Amino acid sequence: MYLEDDLIMISALQHYLFCPRQCALIHIEQQWVENIYTAEGRVLHERVHIAGKESRRKIKIEFDLPLRSLELGLIGRGDVVEFHLLEDGHWQPFPVEYKRGRPKKDNCDKVQLCAQAIALEEMRDTEVPLGALYYGKKKRRLEVAFSKELRKETKDTAQELHNLLRSGKTPPPVADERCENCSFIADCLPDVVCKKVGVAKYLHDMLRI
Ligand code: SF4
Repeated sequence: MYLEDDLIMISALQHYLFCPRQCALIHIEQQWVENIYTAEGRVLHERVHIAGKESRRKIKIEFDLPLRSLELGLIGRGDVVEFHLLEDGHWQPFPVEYKRGRPKKDNCDKVQLCAQAIALEEMRDTEVPLGALYYGKKKRRLEVAFSKELRKETKDTAQELHNLLRSGKTPPPVADERCENCSFIADCLPDVVCKKVGVAKYLHDMLRI
């Protein structure tokens, strides 16, 4: 179990799975660079968060709900948490996370959602077997089952994330296709560091001059 002082933002899981260096730049060096993708994502989340609360007969919805797990050492907010009324009168939490793009090949969105589910289980002393990811580009909701494997991946990732932040060391750049959509590319200079191309050539390629 982690202490309150050890808690890290749930969103850092996704940064870590995308690129450990990006995660360290944000969460160790406290840097943030906005690009079109991060701006679109921020606007989407802001729209979701101002919705407040909704209630129907068999479903209650809470927006921007505070979440915390001492087991994972994570804290954050859930975009949307639905509570579904079961036949035994129990309200079953069902987290929904909004994403601007399309479903990804890797599990990073599912891991972030699973961390929310584990936090809800801990806070409400209940089980959370299912949740969903809503993708803005596809306008489609993808149901996610919190399997044993996904829970293990989430716990392992949280542990690795804590190890990275505790080390206080920013890993070297990766210099692969991830960098093309990364808002840090201009500061990180992955090609200069990894492929040892000169700064002049790097700038030439970047600016296509
Ligand atoms: S530019 Fe590449 S190496 Fe640098 S933080 Fe982004 S993804 Fe990681």
